Amino acid sequence: MSKHCQIESNKKEGRKMSEQYYSRKCDSCGKGMEEGYMTSGERACSEKCMRMLISDEAFEDGMKEWKENGDCEWLFYTEWEQDWDLEEFLYLENGTEVKNPFFDNDKFKKLYRRA
Ligand SMILES: [Zn+2]
Repeated sequence: MSKHCQIESNKKEGRKMSEQYYSRKCDSCGKGMEEGYMTSGERACSEKCMRMLISDEAFEDGMKEWKENGDCEWLFYTEWEQDWDLEEFLYLENGTEVKNPFFDNDKFKKLYRRA
């Protein structure tokens, strides 16, 4: 099942903003994504995209490891969970990188820049 984070915020003026943001971007097709295949160096939104990145052969090897060991250290499927107010940048569906409008600078500083 495809999961994405839809953030809605009601501004003081009563204007409703609704936009879909993604925390990661596919290295193959460049689309925004919330879950997908991952290796040590690549991320891909689908099997097809991962096959493009690492080759069919490598992908088959990975799947074989899963079958035999129930685990594979270098190829797996994952979901990226985000603290949405702590990501400086997010991606739109077409892969455009945008500054996160919900970024909480104070919170970020408190967590990562200790005095
Ligand atoms: Zn893709």
